[in-house]
Amino acid sequence: MKKIQMVDLQTQYEALRPEIDQNIQNVIQSARFINGPDVKSLQQELADYLDVKHVITCGNGTDALQISLMALGLKPGDEVITADFTFAATVEVIGLLNLKPVLVDVHPDTFNIDVEQVKKAITPKTKAIIPVHLFGQAADIEPLLQIAEEHNLYIVEDNAQAIGSDYRFSDGRIAKTGTMGTIGTTSFFPSKNLGCYGDGGAIFTNDDHLAHRLRGIVNHGMYKRYYHDEIGVNSRLDSIQAAVLRTKLPLLDRYNDTRRQAADVYDRLFGDCEQVALPYRDPKSTHVFHQYTLRIKNGKRDALAEHLKEKGIPFGIYYPVPLHLQKAYFQDSFVHENYPVTNMLVEEVISLPMHTELELEQQEYIAGGVRKFLL
Ligand SMILES: *Cc1c(COP(=O)(O)O)cnc(C)c1O
Repeated sequence: MKKIQMVDLQTQYEALRPEIDQNIQNVIQSARFINGPDVKSLQQELADYLDVKHVITCGNGTDALQISLMALGLKPGDEVITADFTFAATVEVIGLLNLKPVLVDVHPDTFNIDVEQVKKAITPKTKAIIPVHLFGQAADIEPLLQIAEEHNLYIVEDNAQAIGSDYRFSDGRIAKTGTMGTIGTTSFFPSKNLGCYGDGGAIFTNDDHLAHRLRGIVNHGMYKRYYHDEIGVNSRLDSIQAAVLRTKLPLLDRYNDTRRQAADVYDRLFGDCEQVALPYRDPKSTHVFHQYTLRIKNGKRDALAEHLKEKGIPFGIYYPVPLHLQKAYFQDSFVHENYPVTNMLVEEVISLPMHTELELEQQEYIAGGVRKFLL
């Protein structure tokens, strides 16, 4: 059996090696390392794939969030609502811009931001909501868009974990995650569903005016060369990364199918195991399984983790600490008891190896290791 890894990027590369190597070589020979033709083509190809008007690439997914909030012109003290159970980047950029993070609990099935909690958290100072499409499944965007409309709020979708996922509206309309809010962001970190070979990110919008501002902010606030109209940042996707992503983008749907099939296999292997809750599949969204995350319901998650470590079976705990308890982001308004679902999830979740190269034999070995401990 091949060595089991959380993410197997080597084997994925082997299948693409000639094309990737050639495309990287082409960039080096052209010496157009920054904003070369591959960057422009990638932006267009991503816009076509997602069916969104504008794609602005940038340095990473965290920058994408920060630049989005800058482009919306939010002022210090403005309140931004996001989920308590997610990767820290989302709340970090809110703090970095001196905005006020308002954390709300998540839904126990989807682990995504709880719409009812969002409603309760809105105040006259609320300016934006950042739903995260966590682990590859869309947050419930339709009611959030309604709330945003009623209260005149922006929606920034953090789509770092769900690129390629579809969301179905109640009228049957289908849209890609990241394209439904005011702005969407993603990350091309190597282990993401669409990953490059270093850091990378992108921002999506259908709004022409915002697209113009975003393009200025990523480039030192320059709208005309050497005329700086506002304080921006320097955040670029380099051409080599764009060349890698252009090779992988046409495979994204197939990659996501492969992840879903691997998830089906895990579901089957754990189907009769009462101690675990399988990942919920929201009928409104196609799950692209950035993570395959079980809940261990018998209180033995940490003991299971120890057991897997001893057996050499990789796993991840995403995420072990709720954002409301992180020192860096603490606000007096965060009350531990207000986050019962997140508080439960941080004790119960465990993510198993999930990538495009998983083999049945590996999954059986992983599931066998988990089951042997639990049963
Ligand atoms: C990975 C990730 C980010 C940050 O992306 P980077 O490219 O690592 O900066 C932001 N939000 C979520 C939900 C992520 O998973």
